[in-house]
Amino acid sequence: MTAPGTNTYLVGTRDPILIDTGAGAAGYVALLDGYLQSRGWARPARVLLTHRHRDHMGGVAALRARFPGLPVAKMRHRDAALPEPIEDLRDGEVVRGDGVTLVPLYTPGHASDHLCYYLVEEKALFTGDVVLGGSTTVIPPDDGDLADYMASLRRLQQLDVARIYPAHGPVIEDAPAKLREYVEHRFERERQILAALAGDRATIPEIVAHVYVGVSPALHGAAAMSVQSHLRALEKQGRVKERVVSGEPSRWELA
Ligand SMILES: [Zn+2]
Repeated sequence: MTAPGTNTYLVGTRDPILIDTGAGAAGYVALLDGYLQSRGWARPARVLLTHRHRDHMGGVAALRARFPGLPVAKMRHRDAALPEPIEDLRDGEVVRGDGVTLVPLYTPGHASDHLCYYLVEEKALFTGDVVLGGSTTVIPPDDGDLADYMASLRRLQQLDVARIYPAHGPVIEDAPAKLREYVEHRFERERQILAALAGDRATIPEIVAHVYVGVSPALHGAAAMSVQSHLRALEKQGRVKERVVSGEPSRWELA
């Protein structure tokens, strides 16, 4: 699910702020340490996390072992297992580093606690898992919400953003084009799912097989999550209905 791995970013000219910490892969801290030393930097000033997923905050413990007392901040929001102590960071609560100003933006949908960070000096956006380089993101049915996600994309579209630094995949140089592509992709999926329901495909596996033709079955689990998120959002809008049959997959129909 992490594509080529999780990106982490050092932001600032001295005493940099570290955005995200990776999954806790062996060798990460040594790699980071070597880079800091090559720049003549002693340590990160602090860590900002985009959201609760393990591939973003899994590196906190090892970083704290190397840099005792390292402050870590994220939005507190229905979190169970956080690497305490964690400072609570809220939407719009500006974080200043050396030569940089980061504005946290609450952007739920992929995760209920997701913050993107807007880098004022560069008109750049650290999008975490809201926008990725080279692929679309997953909306997990447990903690994600497609309607929230679409609202978050629209919020990001209101900003003056040039470049996107995603948590997975390469840097995105044309932010407005990528955001437009993401919004259009979701609308296209929604149209396809509604067409599948109109064509009498009723269960999520049936819809996946119809909409994701030619996609490797290895990805059908992620596709099923996406279809389920779409169906829940359409259900909230009163456009589809779920019919629960015990012992069988739910059947969905147009309302
Ligand atoms: Zn995530």
